[in-house]
Amino acid sequence: MPVIAEDMNEITLENLWNTPEGHRVLSCMQCGMCAGTCPYGEVMEYPPRRIIGMLKAGELDTVLRSQSLLTCVTCYACMNKCPRGIRLTEVLLPLVKEQTFIQLTDMPAELQKALENTDRYGNPLGESPRKRADWVKTSKVPVRILPTDRKPTDVLWFVECYTAYHPRGQDNCRATAKLFHALGVDFAILGHEEKCAGECARLTGETGLFDKLTDYTMKLLGKYKFNRLVTSGAHAYDTFVHEYRPRGFNHELDHTVSFFASRLDQLKPKLKKKLNYTVTYHDACALGRHNNMYDEPRKLLAAIPGVKLVEMEHNRENGICCGGGGGGMWLDTYYKAKGYERLSERRIKEAIATGANVLAVSCPYEVSRFEDALKTVGGNSNMIVRDVVELLAESLEE
Ligand code: SF4
Ligand code: SF4
Repeated sequence: MPVIAEDMNEITLENLWNTPEGHRVLSCMQCGMCAGTCPYGEVMEYPPRRIIGMLKAGELDTVLRSQSLLTCVTCYACMNKCPRGIRLTEVLLPLVKEQTFIQLTDMPAELQKALENTDRYGNPLGESPRKRADWVKTSKVPVRILPTDRKPTDVLWFVECYTAYHPRGQDNCRATAKLFHALGVDFAILGHEEKCAGECARLTGETGLFDKLTDYTMKLLGKYKFNRLVTSGAHAYDTFVHEYRPRGFNHELDHTVSFFASRLDQLKPKLKKKLNYTVTYHDACALGRHNNMYDEPRKLLAAIPGVKLVEMEHNRENGICCGGGGGGMWLDTYYKAKGYERLSERRIKEAIATGANVLAVSCPYEVSRFEDALKTVGGNSNMIVRDVVELLAESLEE
């Protein structure tokens, strides 16, 4: 009798065929939709279709030696399009990545460093945990830090790494704090106790590090009383939904975009300042394709007086990935050395072609990625990049 793995954590490449997920992989009809939709399909030697073919032929070792999956940016496009419903991005690709990375003798230095930093400091930027809440000093509204004031809170705001440390991420923090205040939300942050939620570690196949981070965060959350967790991180949100829930996380959960969208009736009358922007919105893969959060950011943007929304050629489920997921955030140098086009550059050209003067985003990785892309391929464009929460906070000002 086959051993059916009870949950995703128990699935390995060795027992895959004995699991329901493995049975689904066997149903692959080699249609090539996955390779055709992959943003790096033209350079990926082994896209999902070929990986499955090699797996069935018992020749996976060749795939693992190819470094093919270093170009998988975990955009969920292949999984969304697969007519057999094979959970490529959630199940098969992380398993293959894990084995690839174990065998890889020359891991790209930037990615190696980001993972080491995450293990050592709890964030991929290598910043001191003590500085995680430093942005609070520049917030114009009070922000309660739970480890120093342990009273129960309604909203526990899981800030995440890029938001907490990156200068443009900190703009996002100040905007979010201002919006919470405007709505009278009782909120608090975890300060120096918060660590990376672990998405990058999991999707680059570093399952040991991922387990360490999830164990830590589950214990940390158990220390405090709160009703709802709200996170600024698109990848953190995705991880809480798909990885922490099966591990027992049972609080109400929101990304900042869904949180503010659910309170739009209360927020809209406060959006008084007219912003004369033409805005195009980039769907973060982790929010859109993986969690169907397409309408919420657009509703928020449409509620800002003066904002005109225009769509890029590829939008919603067909949106092009910014290239930052699955470790791609730390592989730009590697891609450039290989002569691959950076996906953030491909995407910014589409955004500019709409005639918009603002590219709105909702993932903290994307602000710096697209601001860099504007410098390299933006030409004379006057486009600026803003997180949705930054635009909302700007409209609050009068
Ligand atoms: S889209 Fe699905 S069925 Fe088609 S080749 Fe890819 S994995 Fe196989
Ligand atoms: S998840 Fe995206 S990048 Fe990775 S193989 Fe699928 S389509 Fe390609």
